[in-house]
Amino acid sequence: MSDDLIGVVNAGSSSLKFALYEGERRLLAGQVDGIGVRPQARARDAGGEAIAPPALDPPPQTPAEVVPALIPWLRERLGSRRIAALGHRVVHGGTRYAKPVRATPEVVRDLEALVPLAPLHEPHNLAPIKAVLALDPDLPQVACFDTAFHRTMPEVAQAFALPRAMFEEGLRRYGFHGLSYEYIASVLPEVSPRLAEGRCIVAHLGNGASACALRAGVSIATTMGFTAVDGLPMGTRTGELDAGVVLHFIQQRGMDAAQIQDLLYRKSGMLGLSGGISSDFRDLLASDDPRAAFAIEVFCYRTARQIASLACALGGLDGIVFTAGVGENAAPVRARICQALGWLGLAFDATANAAHGPRLSAPGSAVEAWVIPTDEERMIARHTRALALG
Ligand code: ADP
Repeated sequence: MSDDLIGVVNAGSSSLKFALYEGERRLLAGQVDGIGVRPQARARDAGGEAIAPPALDPPPQTPAEVVPALIPWLRERLGSRRIAALGHRVVHGGTRYAKPVRATPEVVRDLEALVPLAPLHEPHNLAPIKAVLALDPDLPQVACFDTAFHRTMPEVAQAFALPRAMFEEGLRRYGFHGLSYEYIASVLPEVSPRLAEGRCIVAHLGNGASACALRAGVSIATTMGFTAVDGLPMGTRTGELDAGVVLHFIQQRGMDAAQIQDLLYRKSGMLGLSGGISSDFRDLLASDDPRAAFAIEVFCYRTARQIASLACALGGLDGIVFTAGVGENAAPVRARICQALGWLGLAFDATANAAHGPRLSAPGSAVEAWVIPTDEERMIARHTRALALG
């Protein structure tokens, strides 16, 4: 048991989250934010108490540069205990990786070929793996993919109406947030056996947002596509957008790829819709500016429409689950979405919603609604343990 500790790393473009698990018990967790600008580290122990985080000296310019400080910091805290393996979140596993995989140098090379499919995320996910391979090649590492859980989607749910050859070349709907959906699917049997066995839509509403249709806990359709800019509007991303708008940017406005990327990924969504007020739902809900209210209205309208579309893919609906930062905390957003889905047979309990559920539907409602906190890091720890320690 003493060798049984699993480290988890979730690296983004300017942040790196980390955690340490002993079985299902989280011993500590933390993150470094603002990397490249003003890096700040935080950490907390198993009881949630703040502890001294890794020292950032010199300040890391990239998330991978946190690794040389993080590994000794973890080891120092463990004394004689050993980290048995390190699990990483990797956004894209392409069509090849339908499951987590041991991150050997060969696999990392293979994954680097997927960088063009997720240029804003994949390099940041792979960099800490490479840093550990260089520093400590004997430490087993596991890559856990956000796309893997959706490899069960039928081809009809993956296809764009582009020439068939392009589908074979990989131009298809992959879907993301898979580790979150997989975690929710893993706890559904305890929350609602009916949803675990039936037709359930999970709305992962965070800074990034998507929804997934689960049939008996298996993904059969999702709103994100070839990239993580499709589907629902998000904090700063457009979500679904008429491709003709992109042509308009190029042909009429003379915008180049970098400008369009910046607009679609960083200046749109809630931030853009609200006229620049904020990408954060806390700010928008607190604002009395009508543009903030309008941004929230668009988000709820589009989310409800997408949920109804996923219900069609499922051939009906037994329940919905809200998760992630907005889904777990923003009661007014959940209320709007649930009310818009009343016609599907969802009887909404406003009092339960104000108390964050966990059950949001009234007794006897044909369609159930729940709030379930997600835990992607725990899912990575489970996969890493299973693969590295077998
Ligand atoms: P990420 O996609 O970065 O993992 P999270 O799932 O942590 O995002 O969600 C972050 C978002 O959740 C914030 O930007 C904010 O909009 C929203 N959020 C967090 N807490 C609250 C709250 N108490 N009320 C409303 N919205 C919240």
